Amino acid sequence: MNAATSLPTCIVCRSPQVEEFLDLGATALANNFLTAAEIERDEPTYPLRVGFCHACAHVQLTTPVPPASMFQTYLYRSSASTTLSDHLADLAKTLVDRHHLGPNDLEVDIGCNDGTLLTAFREHGVRTLGVDPAENLAALDESGIERYIGYFGDETARRIVERWGRASIATATNTFPHIPALDDFVLGMDRLLEPGGTFVIEAHYLLDLIEQGAFDTVYHEHVSYWAVGPLIRLFDRFDMDVVRVERLPIHHGQLRASIQRRGEGAVDPSVPALLELERSRGLDQFSTMQAFGDQVRRAKRDLTDALARLRREGKRLAAYGAPAKGNTLLSYLELDPDTIEYIADRSTLKQGRFTPGTHIPVVPAERLLEDQPDYAVLLAWNFEDEVLAQQAEYRRRGGRFLVPVPVLREV
Ligand SMILES: [Zn+2]
Repeated sequence: MNAATSLPTCIVCRSPQVEEFLDLGATALANNFLTAAEIERDEPTYPLRVGFCHACAHVQLTTPVPPASMFQTYLYRSSASTTLSDHLADLAKTLVDRHHLGPNDLEVDIGCNDGTLLTAFREHGVRTLGVDPAENLAALDESGIERYIGYFGDETARRIVERWGRASIATATNTFPHIPALDDFVLGMDRLLEPGGTFVIEAHYLLDLIEQGAFDTVYHEHVSYWAVGPLIRLFDRFDMDVVRVERLPIHHGQLRASIQRRGEGAVDPSVPALLELERSRGLDQFSTMQAFGDQVRRAKRDLTDALARLRREGKRLAAYGAPAKGNTLLSYLELDPDTIEYIADRSTLKQGRFTPGTHIPVVPAERLLEDQPDYAVLLAWNFEDEVLAQQAEYRRRGGRFLVPVPVLREV
């Protein structure tokens, strides 16, 4: 059932010159954690390949999966991480102050997940509306925040404007890379924003991904790997400007970009500055991507060898954290329960389930202390500080974490 649709052209500029540089193999969907009954059945896998557009330098999956198979039921919750909750509260405050938002302003969060960001906006007195296709998350949201269950695009924007009015501010944190139909999304944004309104994106940043060797950021949900250059190119086609960019430390490096209609906001010096940095680091060169591909293939060999050696020495291995990205790593390294006995994770939505493709059981976080395996591979390596603080006792008793990316490190 490899029903992936091919991507003949670049989703940013429509050029057909997209060339692959990384193949992570046939992989199950990263957020599709399975029940005990489901691991007995056939599981669909899809090719996971990344390409570079020679015309606009956009980096994207070359064989995207239809969104309906990924987002209608969703097990990731923003509130599950205190680092992320704090970050979203800080984002709300920053935008309220920067754009002087109040009770007359509507904030629309696209991919609102469990309403963590919108709850923070509401505490500042701003009107809020969430958009998200995941029905299970709507049922879990106890915030009482209004939500539109569906994908965002021009038609959704029309319905929102009809019922709730236009938005002073719109946000998409960690959802903009999911969008395959960018033109329809941007048309919708143009329709949604009131004059002078701002759209704010937060997404993993290609420069950080490349420089950290963070290949596990690649999974089917992430159709795009954004840099400032292609982002400007996309919005330019709709007479919109990227007016401000910021680099954020969360998740080991994110890009925040603010977008306004052309002429409604001045372009901040941060935009040409970061664009220049991208050029100086070769982000617009295919050779940079080829070198990254080589580095990832080396990392696979080194990690596989290191884990096999520990097993030969009789060490017991578990993993900590079951983020979607962990499944890219587990699949690409072809790990299974013989090597990684289980994954300890705090999310009750994932506990009792099995990792897609590799079928490793996910157990409550407390198991790490009860069981005290020799090593725990830190799959959620982007939350290293948070995890090390939570699991200080495991290390005090002699347990060690293995941070797998960019180069294997023991802590
Ligand atoms: Zn392109």
